[in-house]
Amino acid sequence: MSRPKVQKFKPPTHIRELPVGPAFPGGHLIEINAGMRTFRPIINKEKCSGCFRCFLVCPEGVIFKTGDKVDIDYDYCKGCGICEFECRFEAISMVKEGE
Ligand code: SF4
Ligand code: SF4
Repeated sequence: MSRPKVQKFKPPTHIRELPVGPAFPGGHLIEINAGMRTFRPIINKEKCSGCFRCFLVCPEGVIFKTGDKVDIDYDYCKGCGICEFECRFEAISMVKEGE
């Protein structure tokens, strides 16, 4: 049996070569969030520029476009906070569940 060949890593030369964006359809979590989330992201539509950066980086693909802004499917958001970290307009804030 032949062994897999080790290939030399070729660094991307253009952003188009990076595997950005949700790689799976929305709902990567297979069950509706049943209370595992401690914090939830809240979008301030006034501050949101519609750059869709959060849409690209959400690991669960639960941020979706509504017109020129975004919204979140809380049924599947796991509360990781990546969207808040990546938003350059401080339009997303994480608030404690239940507040
Ligand atoms: S990253 Fe921030 S500004 Fe950009 S679409 Fe998301 S919430 Fe809006
Ligand atoms: S908190 Fe995490 S899972 Fe929820 S919308 Fe933001 S990036 Fe996606």
